[in-house]
Amino acid sequence: MAYTYLTVPTGDKITMGSDGKLIVPDNPIIPFIEGDGTGVDIWKASVRVFDEAVEKVYGSKRKISWMEVYAGEKPFNLFRKKMGDKAWLPDETVEAFREFLVGIKGPLTTPIGGGIRSLNVALRQLLDLYTCLRPVRYFQGVPSPVKKPQDVDMVIFRENCEDIYAGIEWMTGTADCEKVKKFLIGEMGVKKIRFPETSSIGIKPISKQGSERLIRAAIQYALGHKRKSVTLVHKGNIMKFTDGAFKDWGYTLATTEFRSEIVTERESRIIDNLDRNPGLSVEDNARMIDPGYDMMSPKQQKSIRNEVAAARKLMKTHGAGQWKKHVMIKDTLADIIMQQILTRAKEFDVVATMNLEGDFLSDALAAQVGGIGIAPGANINYVTGHAIFEATHGTAPKYANLDKVNPGSVILSGVMMLEHMGWQEAADLIVKAIDKTIGQKRVTYDFERMMQGATLLTCSGFADALIENM
Ligand code: NAP
Repeated sequence: MAYTYLTVPTGDKITMGSDGKLIVPDNPIIPFIEGDGTGVDIWKASVRVFDEAVEKVYGSKRKISWMEVYAGEKPFNLFRKKMGDKAWLPDETVEAFREFLVGIKGPLTTPIGGGIRSLNVALRQLLDLYTCLRPVRYFQGVPSPVKKPQDVDMVIFRENCEDIYAGIEWMTGTADCEKVKKFLIGEMGVKKIRFPETSSIGIKPISKQGSERLIRAAIQYALGHKRKSVTLVHKGNIMKFTDGAFKDWGYTLATTEFRSEIVTERESRIIDNLDRNPGLSVEDNARMIDPGYDMMSPKQQKSIRNEVAAARKLMKTHGAGQWKKHVMIKDTLADIIMQQILTRAKEFDVVATMNLEGDFLSDALAAQVGGIGIAPGANINYVTGHAIFEATHGTAPKYANLDKVNPGSVILSGVMMLEHMGWQEAADLIVKAIDKTIGQKRVTYDFERMMQGATLLTCSGFADALIENM
């Protein structure tokens, strides 16, 4: 398409193949948003690292053509007379991400007032970027508040378009809120609103399609990256038809679409019981996997026996320990996983969860491995191929233009982008350089203040050190 404000550099478009795999040319055009506040320093440092890694690995054969696109304060200051509030996120920026598929962005200021709640949320919704992908791993030497940060190596698939991000809520006292309450109390017979006169109301939609596409992406990722398990995280004990349904849809999807490649945790126990004792009856196996079996109603007992009988049919493909080679699908409650990531992080690998739980979990995990200065993220639609890789921290305005902050979050987001493009060697080179540089205790202020005997580097200095270590 023709752009008025943007300049398209020489290069080729990344496209989506009919097999659902990205087709990446050697000279791809990649839109980037520099970001507000510290984003300017961070982008300048990060882009040098990306270009150097690509050149070191592929020589003149491959090169990224960067295309600057605008969002946040920069276009607002440039274009607000012409575009008004739209200048925060010009249409052309969204169009560029749509056209060139894969892009990267720094942190953006959240607009104050106006019709846009958050630029990040707007971009995710406009491009239907339904997965927020947050890998969390530890780099040796990074200061951490926990004893064994090295036990964390997880990849969070957080649903990005539903749940609280749908933003369906009404403030108490407004006519709309009163209308909703009248409907709930009057027509639906809801009796559990404790203080109806002063209650605001929010609604969280969780759909089958939305849950399935996210969980599918998580399982495909686990299979493609040889990961051990996918854990569905939810509060289904309380929210049965939203969170509970998310879990149930997840298990159904896993056992229908990926039958030969996965095993559920309960199936693994049934099969393991049979591996140890091939003559075990259905009833005794049911008792072993559900110790409360004898106290259950006949209907509940029948359901457990059916579960055991179904798992017995898998013996050919999963028996004799074969299940150990499959990706395990399990689930846990959101509150429990928040404890277990601290006490036994090794038990978790890929996680698929909804928006709110994913928000808490990924930030808690980021803190465990050293904080938001190095936590990368991506927003991806695996069906269309659209993806925007991004810093997970904000603009940290007090540090703007001081060449001070850690560029690690954007650099590692770029690593994820290179991996997504299939440029694994360049991604690996950057990760190795980060490992080495942090190992040498050459770090930015956020790490230096918590490390003994570290050398303080600027934002650009950290990029120089990475390049030197490639
Ligand atoms: P923030 O910008 O993330 O900053 C909070 C604190 O995190 C900073 O004061 C600093 O801690 C630390 N920090 C942030 N970036 C860092 C980096 N690169 N290296 C090292 N430390 C870093 O959060 P905020 O101050 O609440 O938000 C500022 C603006 O950013 C707001 O407009 C907010 O809406 C926006 N925001 C944007 C995004 C995004 O674009 N993805 C995300 C979150 C917030 P110390 O002071 O301890 O050094």
